[in-house]
Amino acid sequence: MKKISLLFLAVAMGLQLMAQQTKTQNVIIVTLDGFRWEELYHGADSALINSKFTDDKADINKHFWAVTPGERRKMLLPFFWTEIAAQGQLYGDRDLGNKDEVANPYHFSYPGYNEIFTGFPDVRMNTNDPIPNPNMNVLEFLNKQKGFENKVAVFTSWQVFPAILNVKRSGLILNSGYTDFNGPKMNERFRYLNELQHKVPALYGDDVRLDFITYELSKEYLKQYKPRVLYLSLGETDDMAHAGNYTMYLREAHTEDGFLSELWRYLQTDEQYKGKTTLIITCDHGRGDVPLENWRDHGTDTKNSEQTWFAVIGPDTPPTGIIKTPTTTYHKQLAQTIAKLLGFDFKPEAGHEVGDAIESVTGSK
Ligand SMILES: [Zn+2]
Repeated sequence: MKKISLLFLAVAMGLQLMAQQTKTQNVIIVTLDGFRWEELYHGADSALINSKFTDDKADINKHFWAVTPGERRKMLLPFFWTEIAAQGQLYGDRDLGNKDEVANPYHFSYPGYNEIFTGFPDVRMNTNDPIPNPNMNVLEFLNKQKGFENKVAVFTSWQVFPAILNVKRSGLILNSGYTDFNGPKMNERFRYLNELQHKVPALYGDDVRLDFITYELSKEYLKQYKPRVLYLSLGETDDMAHAGNYTMYLREAHTEDGFLSELWRYLQTDEQYKGKTTLIITCDHGRGDVPLENWRDHGTDTKNSEQTWFAVIGPDTPPTGIIKTPTTTYHKQLAQTIAKLLGFDFKPEAGHEVGDAIESVTGSK
């Protein structure tokens, strides 16, 4: 009898361990639209600095130039190359033979974000128009799980996200474009940011908000509402690349690295988040590389723009730094990876295919 109850206890404990195999209780996802793996791993590019795409070469050299790629990338992205390189993982360093890619054939934004969040590189999603996405995404799935209801929030600069994440169906808390934030915990800061966003110049048109507003709103939301899943979507790296402005492309990347650093520092001061939060940073597509002017573009006709990267730091992710294995990860794997980090198996209701979780991230391999 005693033996049987011990066995029962062991099985029960085993099951409990399986259900709570991760330390991650919260996930934060940040995307830098169209930011290239080339700058992530090499830092500023000398050919681009010495081209027509950089107006003030001396200024850029002062801020971002050093002889070795290792020094340059640290000047450009100090958070990535101090915190994440030491305590997290970085994928997509093709110089070392590790590849990260989008699986969709289009290499632009809507198909890219659809792939990341639904896990399904649906060939029907060949548009940047605000067409409601028929596919269920992992944020929507998580929002339906016990303990996550209304604890999943999204802040985006680009106005198309309500369609990409199908807010009408998913019911996600989502603030995008130049929409004012509204919620039960309104305060002075939310009101000020709402006011400010209509006063700063709309540099990228009516459907793309300046990233610093999106970031500040998300940060205040984090403090006031304590979501368990937060997605912050930033866009200026892509806008500056399309504009052919390498100076501002680098400066935006550097600024956004600063946002990430501030965000991570804040998480370490909060009991809900400290030691229990995984941060995943990635992009929706790559850009061209050769000929030189192709850095501005991406898409099916722009060679190598499927090449991407992602970075992750959190309590379940072994701190292996730059991944050097000759493997390829795809962005269609990120949705299931996010679910697994929180102890779930992402099974979309309509049953579309979902890429496998990346086990080197979730700590199961
Ligand atoms: Zn673009």
